[in-house]
Amino acid sequence: MKNPVNALALLGALSALSIAPKALAESAASTFEVDLSQRASQIAWIEGHFEGLTPGAPLALSFPVWRTGLYRVIDPAGTVSQLTFEDGEGQSLTLTRSGTSRWEGTVPPSGQLHVRYRLYANSLEDRTRDLDANHAFLNPGAVFPYLEALRDAPVTVQLGLPEGWALISGLEQCGPGCALAPTYDRLVDSPLEAGTFDAVEFTAGPVHSTIAIDGPWDGNGERLKGDVAALMTAAADVFGSAPLPTDRYLFLLHSGEGLGGGTEYYNSTVVHTDPKAFWDKKRYESMLSLFAHEYFHTWNVKRFRPAPLARYDYEQPTIVDLLWAAEGLTSYYDLLLLRRAKLVDDKRFLEMLGEMVDDVLDHPGYGQQSLAEASEEAWIKGYHRGRDRTPDKRNESVSFYAQGGVLGLVLDLRLREATAGSASLDTLMTMLYEDFPLGGPGYDFLAMKARVHALAGAELAEAFEGWVYGREPLPVAEALATVGLTLSRKPLKEGAATAALGARLREEGGRVSIRDVDRRAPAFAAGLQAEDELLAFAGTLVRSKDLEPLLRRHTPEETVSLTLGRRGELLTLPVPLATAAGAWEISPAEEETPPAAQLAWLTGEPPQP
Ligand SMILES: [Zn+2]
Repeated sequence: MKNPVNALALLGALSALSIAPKALAESAASTFEVDLSQRASQIAWIEGHFEGLTPGAPLALSFPVWRTGLYRVIDPAGTVSQLTFEDGEGQSLTLTRSGTSRWEGTVPPSGQLHVRYRLYANSLEDRTRDLDANHAFLNPGAVFPYLEALRDAPVTVQLGLPEGWALISGLEQCGPGCALAPTYDRLVDSPLEAGTFDAVEFTAGPVHSTIAIDGPWDGNGERLKGDVAALMTAAADVFGSAPLPTDRYLFLLHSGEGLGGGTEYYNSTVVHTDPKAFWDKKRYESMLSLFAHEYFHTWNVKRFRPAPLARYDYEQPTIVDLLWAAEGLTSYYDLLLLRRAKLVDDKRFLEMLGEMVDDVLDHPGYGQQSLAEASEEAWIKGYHRGRDRTPDKRNESVSFYAQGGVLGLVLDLRLREATAGSASLDTLMTMLYEDFPLGGPGYDFLAMKARVHALAGAELAEAFEGWVYGREPLPVAEALATVGLTLSRKPLKEGAATAALGARLREEGGRVSIRDVDRRAPAFAAGLQAEDELLAFAGTLVRSKDLEPLLRRHTPEETVSLTLGRRGELLTLPVPLATAAGAWEISPAEEETPPAAQLAWLTGEPPQP
């Protein structure tokens, strides 16, 4: 709060706001009982009880078609079967299906609705629901339906816990296996984990924190809590003296072969890792950066939210042109926080930042799509797994994670330069956090641009708009130069191939095939296609997707003959080779002591005069 206000007037305004949503009956509540006795077969039987409804009113029961933090239609009703409805007095009730995950009818005289269904839960990878003999992971938005009329009423979930199990979540506990959410929206924002997980408890400043770990890990809780607490403190420091969003936080960590990624929630996160991360330095750093990413989301997107996400629409995909801000700026901070928490040194930080920059600048789709377009198309391109468009994805779309992260880097350094270090991306994040609290209308791009303008003037504000809505390259090298860093390509390794095919390969069951072709490579115009089986390269049989040894025999622009299999037929295709290039890297400018601005940026401290 920046200006003193009349506390009473404010209180009056706030209570008027909280009363404003539709009046709910005092008995309005939803309760879910979860029977886990068939968990070894990945089945839960769920009963839902909805009370305090208005008799005779229209009734609509829906499962959200997406879960927050994953912008993809998942239609959880696809894993639901044997759904029945009753009126609360044991009489069966008929509801008509009006959508893939929606049923409609009329509230019976009892003012109650009971539902019962079987849920199949075999979907740990997308962090929606998973059951087995040893644990239960239930992401409520992908498990429990809601009635629009009771969306703002309390929800209780009661799990029938097997002996020796515990339940953990960001919600208030209401007994063994019981969790209580003030509203359905909060329930959806609070994934539930039950089982015999390990728990590492600690405090990060005033935040009581728990890491609940299911799956193999090294058992080194001291190292883990020290590192995660340091990251949490560095994240809080971005927002200076602004109040923390929560005083309690839970990391749910699933460790298993091939797992990765995470999702943010109100005061918790679900983080996935391969167990190798506990025994490998670089993988461990990546896991920590994922912890930092999800925790930073507690502010960015869980508190200050793009306007279309201010109140979730569970019925359909929500188009947001600001996912680059929600995800990309968070991706920038997940690296920066590692450095600020002193978990990596400057050299390693610049290496990781360089990898992100390389992912963007060398991406075939760079310049083909704006960040705003990439955000809006998240549902149909970004997270969509459709085989029909996958090979074209790299050519025609950009990642709002990586490119949004590089935009964050450029904006941060340019804000620092334009204000002689008095403002930065930290300042902008803090303004959005303070000006757009949860429960309000959320922010839009104009709100961001206006704040950049106020901090650093019209020129940077206009440039910022171009980086978001335009397709021109980002001024990365220029921004890095302001803190004494240079951007250049690494030289190719001694003896490495100088020619490249310009296509990514896939190896399956001893067959090598084309995954996708870079639109910029001559092979693209020559007609090499995704899914072509690559049988021979310039007369030599291809045995592995590593073409490097074969490419060394050729020079860029030389045309080689490829023997391909396409829909069961043999085909010979002459293909000119592309030129191999080293990856982009960031390094300190030569013979120069780092400018004070570099240290201020890396540490988050104001620049020393
Ligand atoms: Zn994220």
